[in-house]
Formats: sequence, structure tokens, C-alpha cells
Amino acid sequence: MINRRRRIYEGKAKVLYEGPEPGTLVQHFKDDATAFNRKKQDTIDGKGVLNNRISEYIFTRLGEIGVPTHFIRRMNMREQLIREVEIVPLEVVVRNVAAGSLSKRLGIDEGTPLPRSIIEFYFKSDDLEDPMVSEEHITAFGWASPQEIDDIMALSIRINDFLSGLFMGVGIRLVDFKLEFGRLWENDMVRIILADEISPDSCRLWDIATNDRLDKDRFRRDMGGLVEAYQDVARRLGILAENDRTGGKGPVLVKN
Ligand code: UDP
Repeated sequence: MINRRRRIYEGKAKVLYEGPEPGTLVQHFKDDATAFNRKKQDTIDGKGVLNNRISEYIFTRLGEIGVPTHFIRRMNMREQLIREVEIVPLEVVVRNVAAGSLSKRLGIDEGTPLPRSIIEFYFKSDDLEDPMVSEEHITAFGWASPQEIDDIMALSIRINDFLSGLFMGVGIRLVDFKLEFGRLWENDMVRIILADEISPDSCRLWDIATNDRLDKDRFRRDMGGLVEAYQDVARRLGILAENDRTGGKGPVLVKN
């Protein structure tokens, strides 16, 4: 099928197309994986399908507890309809357990529980490799207002509390994750809503019993078994039936 939709933006793992109505976009999940600012790249069959489903599930649950999000509905295996927003140029990282760049920067062993949840901000810039910034930088350079930072932090804490419990219930520790927010205009009002995706690409998810990595670290660290791990997350969340096949390599048996 020829894709006639206008492409608005192409990122590392997703493409955004013009939506069917004004103010909407189509978010398409690719199978591409990148890490270390694109220095490591690969295609992993079935990753996009899984992230589309997992992100749909999480955004829907968050919507149900009153967290405003850009998600409208899933359209097909790889695409969801979303509200168009002006993205705040920040990656907001929430951490519960030391891992990744925090462990490296501060010399804290991976897996050490943090005394409390920590929120960090990174300025979104591929050229600069997403440098960490403080609220001072954010307000001085006008990336977000003090009120918007307050809203972003309050939403991030709610999301962390809710998702920590959600994953805990299925035997998974939510170690850390990355959020992006956008501005939505409604008449003369502008408000901050959750955008982008929440998936094993943007979270660290460890099995509570075994500490098995069920996230993109399997790719970053050449551990293999990424699709199987993402499938495990989806299955535990009740999104996939036991025999669902999402690799696109054959028919999916639909159970009633
Ligand atoms: N993260 C992300 N996109 C990025 C950077 C980080 O989704 O561009 C997520 C990452 O998957 C992890 C959390 O944010 O769950 C914290 O990442 P960290 O700062 O430890 O960086 P990393 O070790 O991934 O370089």
C-alpha cells in the first residue's frame, strides 16, 4: 500500500504523520533500535508492534487515573492516533533505583535503591547528545516556564507512583524511565500533557525475582532476547495472549 500521508517528523524509533483531522497526528512505531546517540543501530523484528501495544496500554491506564495524555486510540499494529502538541524540548527522567548514567556519573552500584525518587531533566538535542540541565537553565533559556516545570514534576511523580505499582503487581521493578511532555492549546488555554511513548525502549524494567533485564538494555549491552523480553512484559500486563505472534512472520491465531 502506498503511504500518502504527509510525514511530519522522523525520529529514531518512530515516525509522525499528519493525522486524519486537524490537531491530530499518527504515531508509527518502527522496528529500528538505536543507542548511544545512534552510534549503535539495528532493526529488531516485532519491536515496533510490541511498543505500540505496551504504550497504548500504559497511556490508557494513565488516562483512567486522570493523567492528561496525547493518546487518542490505536489504529493498527504499528500506529496510534495522537493529539498534536508542541513538544517541550526536555527528556524528563524519573529514577527509583540507581542504573545507567546515574550509576556511571556518581559511582553508585547499579541496583542500589535511591533514598527517594529523583527527577532529572535533559535538553533534547542530538547534536549536543542530550546534556543534563537544571531548572535554572530551563527557565533562563525559556524551554519551559516555572509553572510548566511544576506541572511536569507533579505529573511525573504521579506517573511514577502509578506505574511502579502497576509493574510491581506483575513482578517487575520500575528502575527508571523517560517522559516527554507537550503543550496542548484549547481555546485560549494552554496545558501540559504527557506525550511520546512509555515502553521498554524508554524504561528500565527488571524482573523482581531474578533481576533479568526486560528492556532496551538488552540491546545496549548486546544481551540478545529483546523481543522475547518485551513480549514477556506485554504478556504479564495481559496485553498479549500466550500464543500471540507479533513478529509479522505469520498469521496470528485469534482467540475469542
Ligand atoms: N532514556 C530514554 N531515552 C534517552 C535517554 C534515556 O528513553 O535518550 C531512558 C532510559 O531507557 C532509562 C532512563 O531514561 O530508562 C535513564 O537513562 P540513563 O540516563 O541512565 O541513560 P542511559 O544509560 O540510557 O544512557
